[in-house]
Amino acid sequence: MIISKKIDRKKLLETIKDYNSFFLVGCSECASLCGTGGEPELEELKKELEAAGKKVTGTFRAKTGCQVLGTKVELKPFKDELADTQVVIVMSCGAGTQAMVEAFPDKPVYPSNDSLFLGNMTRFQMFDERCSLCGECILEQTGGICPVTNCPKGLLNGPCGGTSNGNCEVSPDIRCAWVRIYDRLEKINRLDDMKKVIKAKDWSKSQSPQVLSARPKKEGKKTK
Ligand code: SF4
Ligand code: SF4
Repeated sequence: MIISKKIDRKKLLETIKDYNSFFLVGCSECASLCGTGGEPELEELKKELEAAGKKVTGTFRAKTGCQVLGTKVELKPFKDELADTQVVIVMSCGAGTQAMVEAFPDKPVYPSNDSLFLGNMTRFQMFDERCSLCGECILEQTGGICPVTNCPKGLLNGPCGGTSNGNCEVSPDIRCAWVRIYDRLEKINRLDDMKKVIKAKDWSKSQSPQVLSARPKKEGKKTK
């Protein structure tokens, strides 16, 4: 899931200070789980805007905010509220905000959140970064633990030599990723994998922006 956190409210209010009417869009997926774009947060921002003398024409929580076409369809019943709206504030990740730029080509669309990383939820509203979306996964060689993300140096072959008591020299409060990989490989009887050199990655595979069509290719038709 995409982990987000709320933008400083003073900064948000400064950004929108020239406008008076707002429609708020939340997201039922990642932003709801992060506590940045669910019903409580929509209500909270509505109250804050009203306390600042602004009008909130409506609030809406998309099923999946980054799903452009689906969200456009879900917004159809809000035609009247949107006609009375100067600005749309999107309470999701950056992808959701840009989906709303497509839905509202004639209105300013502003984010209420910063998007931080792709994360795992370890406990309620506690998130860990585990994958950096490198585009060329090597987890099968590292016991399922990602050194690209979990080692601050992103070492493909480790440890680096600075490991101290099993912890990382860069971030002493975390376990060295390569110690974790060793322990894991030992547990699953794959310690020999530690001796295999992982080749340099093809970083062009994580170059932005990327486009992918996961649709099956139809004969005679080209897909990207
Ligand atoms: S190797 Fe790349 S794709 Fe696999 S978990 Fe790590 S960052 Fe993600
Ligand atoms: S101590 Fe381990 S996790 Fe930290 S930088 Fe070195 S190899 Fe990476």
